[in-house]
Amino acid sequence: MAEQRITVKAITWFRESSGLFDYETSNNRKYKIKVNEESLIVRQDENVLSVHRSCFQDLQNHPIILASFYKKNRNFILSSSINKTVEGAEWEKPWVVIKGLKTSEYLLSEGDVLRLGKVKFTIKEISGPKQSDVRRSVLHSKTLENGGLGGLVKSKTDASVPIELEAQIISNSCRICLLDDNDELNPLISPCFCTGTMGVVHIGCLQRWLDSKITQNSHRDVKIYTWRSLNCELCKFKYPSKIFVNNKIIDLITIEKPPTNYLILESGSNELKSIHVLNLEDKQAIKLGRGYDSDMRIPDISVSRNHATIHIRSSGLYIQDLNSKFGSLIRIKKDICLDLDSKFKIQTGRTLLKISITKPWSLFGCLLGCGKGKDSDDENQRIRDITTDLSSNNI
Ligand SMILES: [Zn+2]
Ligand SMILES: [Zn+2]
Repeated sequence: MAEQRITVKAITWFRESSGLFDYETSNNRKYKIKVNEESLIVRQDENVLSVHRSCFQDLQNHPIILASFYKKNRNFILSSSINKTVEGAEWEKPWVVIKGLKTSEYLLSEGDVLRLGKVKFTIKEISGPKQSDVRRSVLHSKTLENGGLGGLVKSKTDASVPIELEAQIISNSCRICLLDDNDELNPLISPCFCTGTMGVVHIGCLQRWLDSKITQNSHRDVKIYTWRSLNCELCKFKYPSKIFVNNKIIDLITIEKPPTNYLILESGSNELKSIHVLNLEDKQAIKLGRGYDSDMRIPDISVSRNHATIHIRSSGLYIQDLNSKFGSLIRIKKDICLDLDSKFKIQTGRTLLKISITKPWSLFGCLLGCGKGKDSDDENQRIRDITTDLSSNNI
């Protein structure tokens, strides 16, 4: 007999709009699904059902995978990598709904991807406040609010992984300033795939050229850096934000950081990227939203005027959703081990999944529970406690 019973309540918004789910509308369709074995939760139009992995290929009408449950030892696990579940299947990325967590808040860590409406931000750097232990590889549904969903800090980086470059001793001249002086402070380097006279540039000249492509803005205590692609105009090589020259890491892109307490968020694509640097010094909270009184303004129609707040405490940065229309979400990049007596919500595209994990009904528990209609939570808890005791005695 299964050790856990998973109930999934699926609510699908009728409108297809950039994978958004409207938390304010009743224009939706609901399903209640019981999961007793390894299975996939699948949407076909507005219908949501659970199927065994082996049956997925038989489904018609463009099935989309919303969630994948597998078993490890006695526990069910919610998989973070649905794309690996069935080859070639269409799937939606799973996100944890912050408002659905026990404390309605989530502890932010480096590597987390935060989504407000349809705008996504990666947490690049937190300096000052504490973070969750991001190295944990499996998270527990009981303690999701403690953070760490974002994966390893390797993402502190992607674009900032230093590329190793050797200073050039050859006597070519710089393609920008046309001079050929080459000293330790401002060496000539060959940073891209270009060769010959076009392949050599001073570090200082390259830094100034990249800086000229970056637009700087500020609003209250938030500095915003925006740029279109930072590619070599000739060979299209994408410049990293840091390079490694003669054993020294050198910043190609200069982002001004406050001295101690700050948070750096990155958004956008390679074509148009933004970096937000939030100064947290002497602050207790930062308001995020589309409204003019927000500390960090996000001018997107899917973002509510007062969308979310980041609370700055000694124990960390906690984000809270302010009943926004399209929700505040954290990307699930790690598998979640489902703990007994816990519940949480995930959003996958335009479907909200409310997941709760309980003990399976024993005969005794069923007799107690039947015919009572809607039990109060307290009573449910009491019944479960009794069944827990019974099953541990093997009755
Ligand atoms: Zn130069
Ligand atoms: Zn080039």
